[in-house]
Amino acid sequence: MATLDDPDSAERWADVSLLTTRSGPLANEGNYGTLFNPPVIFEPMPEIVQFIRNMARVLVVGAGGLGCELLKDLALMGFGQIDVIDMDTIDVSNLNRQFLFRNADVGRPKATVAAEFVMKRVKGVTVTPHYCPIQEKDAEWYRGFQVIVMGLDSIEARRWLNAMMCSLVRYETSEAGERVPDLTSVIPLVDGGTEGFQGHVRTIYPCVSACFECTLDLFPPQQAVPLCTIAETPRSAAHCILYAHLIEYPKEFPEGKPDKDDPAYQNWVYTHALERAKRFNIPGVTLMHTQGVIKNIIPAIASTNAIVAAACASEAFKIVTNCAAFLDNNLMYMGGQGLYAPTFKYERNAQCVVCGDGVVMTAAPQTSLTLLMEKMAEDPRLRLKAPSLSVVGGKKGDTLYMRGILETEYVAYLDLPISELFDSGATLHVTDPGVPGSIRLIVEFACEDIVLE
Ligand SMILES: [Zn+2]
Repeated sequence: MATLDDPDSAERWADVSLLTTRSGPLANEGNYGTLFNPPVIFEPMPEIVQFIRNMARVLVVGAGGLGCELLKDLALMGFGQIDVIDMDTIDVSNLNRQFLFRNADVGRPKATVAAEFVMKRVKGVTVTPHYCPIQEKDAEWYRGFQVIVMGLDSIEARRWLNAMMCSLVRYETSEAGERVPDLTSVIPLVDGGTEGFQGHVRTIYPCVSACFECTLDLFPPQQAVPLCTIAETPRSAAHCILYAHLIEYPKEFPEGKPDKDDPAYQNWVYTHALERAKRFNIPGVTLMHTQGVIKNIIPAIASTNAIVAAACASEAFKIVTNCAAFLDNNLMYMGGQGLYAPTFKYERNAQCVVCGDGVVMTAAPQTSLTLLMEKMAEDPRLRLKAPSLSVVGGKKGDTLYMRGILETEYVAYLDLPISELFDSGATLHVTDPGVPGSIRLIVEFACEDIVLE
């Protein structure tokens, strides 16, 4: 079957062509009508396959468990121009499920190895690797893609990319005089995620449908165990393991730099955690649990990755070719008990810091600027770690606080009450290393605290 190896033969993409050269009951049904007005009409034609082979550019973010699956799926679906970005190198523990990597590849960049493998195996596809953090690429670079598929395991990276894609959206005035997103500037995101036997697939049309930030409060803040609990009142096996890892080892080997991947170190922590667990009568300390806690590992199941990636790839295909209605806008996969996979729709949050009209925060007028920034760190909608703040028409100047080399010039403002810096209802422009672009934060002074002069 030489024709199947030939990427330019009609037979090679015959199966894909069936989807793009015929219409069907699901083409242009459902969400296209509600998301786009007027709806984008699907016109079956042979040129669509040529379009995805030669023109459409898809970006895969992450070349790990999901990324390997995504690259394979997208290449076999006919996407001919794929970019992949990942900042990691291959670890021996990846090999059981990240099937594009071999023993000899350990230590090499995931993006590079994955690209080489897919290009060798699927003739006619160009996979361009980018071995760097996503933050290293600028807006112009991200603008070059038709669709972006995320196979990430970090909330921070998802937030960053989501905010980047929202910042690319231009606005125009509709015939009714409303400010609406210019759809030609909207680049859809498909987000996949897995944890054990569970997973999700989500489609995001930045500034049109609910963005990642709109629903950020669904993700609990990362559990931080207070050090005093670990040191004094352990309640779980993890507390005992963390005690050995964070307190005992540094005490015993003040000069030592533990290698979390070293089995000897893992054993040392395991043995000491076990002793502590016995003293406090806590069950559950095992070597595997120890490895999981000190390396912060989320269990990865190859079949979950395969299912979630396949669903993501077909969403990307539907979005780019328009051959069927895409997911609106979330699918949960629960593989622990059977194959339950319900879908539901996330609603936009009008107060979303990234795609909404701005976040309203209330604070007493005598609140110090420091305290206000602490509130920004704690607020589940913001979770800003190192914000810089400015306000147009500020009482002491427009810049309220700036990080970096000029920081010392603004330290004096930190203890001032915010009422001496701006008025109630002022819109603060906030930037933070965790979020590209700026956030509009409206600070309302809480009325009961307003002191009448
Ligand atoms: Zn949003």
